[in-house]
Amino acid sequence: MTTDLVQLNSADPRHAIEIAHRVWWVGHVLDDDVFQCHVYLIEQGDQSVLLDPGSRLTFAGTLRKIEEVIPFTHIRYFVCHHQDPDIVAAMPLIDEMVGREDAVLVTHWRARALLRHYGLKVPFWLVDEHDWRLELADRALEFIFTPYAHFPGAFCSFDRSTGILFSSDLFGGFTEKPTLVARDESHFEALRPFHEHYMPSRDILDFALTQIEAYPVRVIASQHGSIIPEHLVAPMTDKLRHLDCGIYLYARGNTDIQRLSRLNATLRDISETMLLYRDFRDIADRLFQVVSKSLPIDRIDYYAQVEDRGILLLTQETRFSGLFGEPPHEVMLIMGMTREEWHRAHAESSDLANHQLCGDAFCFRLDGDSGMVLTLPLFSPGTDRLDALALVHFPESMPVTSEVEQVIEQIAMPLQVALEREVIYRSIEEERKRAYQRSIRDPLTGLFTRVYMQDVVTRQFGIHDRDSSAPVAAVMVDIDHFKRINDTYGHATGDQVLRQVAGVLKDAVRETDVPVRFGGEEFIVFLVGASASDAMSYAERIRTEIEASEFGIGASDSLRVTISLGVGQRAQREPQEALLMRVDEALYRAKEGGRNRVELADEPVS
Ligand code: GH3
Ligand code: MG
Ligand code: MG
Repeated sequence: MTTDLVQLNSADPRHAIEIAHRVWWVGHVLDDDVFQCHVYLIEQGDQSVLLDPGSRLTFAGTLRKIEEVIPFTHIRYFVCHHQDPDIVAAMPLIDEMVGREDAVLVTHWRARALLRHYGLKVPFWLVDEHDWRLELADRALEFIFTPYAHFPGAFCSFDRSTGILFSSDLFGGFTEKPTLVARDESHFEALRPFHEHYMPSRDILDFALTQIEAYPVRVIASQHGSIIPEHLVAPMTDKLRHLDCGIYLYARGNTDIQRLSRLNATLRDISETMLLYRDFRDIADRLFQVVSKSLPIDRIDYYAQVEDRGILLLTQETRFSGLFGEPPHEVMLIMGMTREEWHRAHAESSDLANHQLCGDAFCFRLDGDSGMVLTLPLFSPGTDRLDALALVHFPESMPVTSEVEQVIEQIAMPLQVALEREVIYRSIEEERKRAYQRSIRDPLTGLFTRVYMQDVVTRQFGIHDRDSSAPVAAVMVDIDHFKRINDTYGHATGDQVLRQVAGVLKDAVRETDVPVRFGGEEFIVFLVGASASDAMSYAERIRTEIEASEFGIGASDSLRVTISLGVGQRAQREPQEALLMRVDEALYRAKEGGRNRVELADEPVS
């Protein structure tokens, strides 16, 4: 039965059309109506059922079709799935025509609360009082509650014998060129704006779809749009599951539903972009693509003020990587203004004379032959200062229509968030770098700390383990009788001596070597690529240099300082502790041997 449904598109819509066994379409197509209100008749002899009878405009046509099938008086049940006029406005007419005592209006109690105001003679038969089920001659109608989609008492009817779901507004569509039966998945484009617009939220729609999915639905006969045949039931349901509803939120004065739908898609893409991507580069790329779908743009460049650092340029040339630099003149002009100053500047400053203000949202200027540039200021919510902006470049000047306005206005907030986030990430990153620098440098001497030593030595030893031609030597240095210096000249002098000794160590090494303040007045220098004899000459060189150095203590006095050193070359795969122990032993020998001398460490015990 269902596979033949699409063929019904060639049936003559001026007559009743049987869509399944004893189920008739008796709708009346209005030429200028994208809603296309469909009415269905279940023929059951004198116990027949009319579903969603229709309006005063359509009823005459519907009545004619009913009478092609059965006498009108054979209808006993008038099912109203909700209370909108396109479904029930015909009820007062029907009420006049119904001659029989047992005729009823089948609906939900929430609809009755409203429908009773028609003052109809036909009594109500409430689905919720009849176990959500109506027994008929050769079948039963099962009622499915789908509240708030879009009316609080909305429900659907299911005929298990044919698999038809009379879904009322759910699965409805807007169709410019009506076909009785949907042909392919592109029909979803008719469903999309209808649901985005009339279904209040995704949760509510999801709930309704979940209710319906419990039934073996083979055909969906909705009140609007087209009948959905079996092969499209699952795809349409699935797509509705992923649809954002409630675009009336963005509607404002706009009644063009198709456009709202497009706009909604743009906004959805933008929010998705914001959720999915963290990196401003990705956000900028995606936003460009999204906005390009609605507007013919060339590029969007971004500028953001970063406290203490200047202006961050995020432009296409640099792949939005963000560089500090000199932004275009007009950016400099307006950056930092309050909203009020920005407005005033447009009225008063000759610099902005060629800028045209567009409400509160943005300004634009024509760029000679080369198009149009639209400036979107982003005011910080806290200070109301313009601390970021986007320049949207159009290849050609074009009228700034309300559609342009809407898209631009809608991207302002996400951009604001994205740029603010970018600036915050950057300051966090810089703080992290500064913190790292702090943690790797000893503040007194400027030498590396043991924290850094651990990092770099592990790396360097790894290289040495793989490559014997990349040796590492260690030189341990300890100042002789330093305690005496402190005791005699004071702690500040001690500090100065430490600084000066550190300076000598540092100046005598290459860029790749690693001089470390190891403890109070102990240092260790790792010499990369050095043999034992290289290390010995380095040690001897600094020993003599320190010995010869004058350490100024106050104006006249000067002090002599000496150091003792232990030197060792690392053996491949020798652990760090073992190497340190060897050079420490050598240093101890240097001290024992009278200080101010260099000792070479023993070979490692293998
Ligand atoms: P030795 O020749 O045997 O090495 O004798 P020493 O006095 O140099 O050795 P000792 O380890 O007994 O004393 C080291 C002193 O260094 C003790 C400590 O107060 C001092 N010291 C450690 N860190 C600092 C510092 O940052 N500044 C100053 N001024 N003194 C420090
Ligand atoms: Mg010492
Ligand atoms: Mg010491």
